[in-house]
Amino acid sequence: MRSPRRCSRNACPRQAVATLTYVYNESTAVVGPLAAFAEPHTYDLCEQHARSLTAPRGWDVVRHEGEFEPPPPTTDDLVALAEAVREAARPVAPRPPQDDPHPHPQNPPTGRRGHLRVIPPNH
Ligand SMILES: [Zn+2]
Repeated sequence: MRSPRRCSRNACPRQAVATLTYVYNESTAVVGPLAAFAEPHTYDLCEQHARSLTAPRGWDVVRHEGEFEPPPPTTDDLVALAEAVREAARPVAPRPPQDDPHPHPQNPPTGRRGHLRVIPPNH
């Protein structure tokens, strides 16, 4: 199982969303959506590096200006997602009352209602 592709820049931990391709015979660097397969002279880049790329002197940069979409999740990600959904669907145990983060106000003021009496209904 292959792991998600990472940015090819040194020490960059981000996920690759774009592929940089050097077209040597046209002196052009092309930054496009992530290529399905790694090829010679291509480098995977994260969005930040893809956007900030500058061409070597004498080279042009052709940059994909739309959104960079992360690649579809791998099977491992799908398994993790399924686990998360199962976890979320699990019934939640009722919390003990002392855990209530919003306790009811103690002894709300009763004011002058103290003198009222409850009169039982007449049947
Ligand atoms: Zn990067």
